[in-house]
Amino acid sequence: MFCSCLGHQQKQLVDPDIENDSREDPSGGFGPSKLGVRTTVDEPLSASQAIEALQAGNRRFVQGDAKAGGLDHRARRALASHGQRPVATVIGCADSRCPVEQLFDARPGDLFVLRNAGNTCTHSEGSMVGSVEYSVAILETKMILVLGHTGCGAIMGATKIFLERSAQKHIEATCQKDAKETTDQSTQASESEQPPQPGDCKSRSTLLGLLDALVPVAEKACVELGGGSTEEIAAHAVKVNVWRTINFLLSYSLIIREKVASGELELQGAIYNMSSGAVEFLGKSPKQAELLNYDGHVVPSMGGLARQLS
Ligand SMILES: [Zn+2]
Repeated sequence: MFCSCLGHQQKQLVDPDIENDSREDPSGGFGPSKLGVRTTVDEPLSASQAIEALQAGNRRFVQGDAKAGGLDHRARRALASHGQRPVATVIGCADSRCPVEQLFDARPGDLFVLRNAGNTCTHSEGSMVGSVEYSVAILETKMILVLGHTGCGAIMGATKIFLERSAQKHIEATCQKDAKETTDQSTQASESEQPPQPGDCKSRSTLLGLLDALVPVAEKACVELGGGSTEEIAAHAVKVNVWRTINFLLSYSLIIREKVASGELELQGAIYNMSSGAVEFLGKSPKQAELLNYDGHVVPSMGGLARQLS
């Protein structure tokens, strides 16, 4: 049983008044919609159709040719009466500059959108993964797009914490080495008097805990780049984080793994460039084949097997 706020999926008799208004999707990008907006009277789109619709919508957005406008009363009534049949699930960042529907020129009913800071599944993972399972199992979306973006504040914050922590460790290591050369006793004093690390913030706020959980993303980005400026590492970490979210979903959802393995569902990554407005589509995770052999059924906070994701 699902919350009614997610929309009732039961097919209902088409309102005669609405049926007479049958027309093609005026935006031209999200497939045929019998009632002018996508509802359960429409068929689900395939993954390839969905990604084409997303790409076409983003092109309209970049070219300043967006067509998705307000809904008239008939379209609103169709959505309210006939339930939703979105073409794709998009996991985006909560950043106000990355409005998912607008940048894909989508209207209500076109996309099932999940957003949080850093487009991540590491926190509130039960609600995120459960929502994705709902969208693919009940709403029949065939494409899950994890959407990062340039200039992500959450990723930048995590990168700064990582670099500050690395610098602190370097200083401590240097101090300990110097101290060891004098006496072992002074080394012990140095270790026992460690100042709080900049990233040691789990107890101070949930937001800092969220950034702390993204630190491994920055670390991996730094390793893959072989070092770099804060901006360079953060930019690469955006992509690393997209893969990490996809890998998390594959690791902890049997529903998703089964549908991906059978070819019913695809998970792809993408990065929205806030400057150009364009979305770079990255395709599937390089680790997908490996992760399809995992056996997680629920997320770690719900008792699943803990896995170290990379
Ligand atoms: Zn962001």
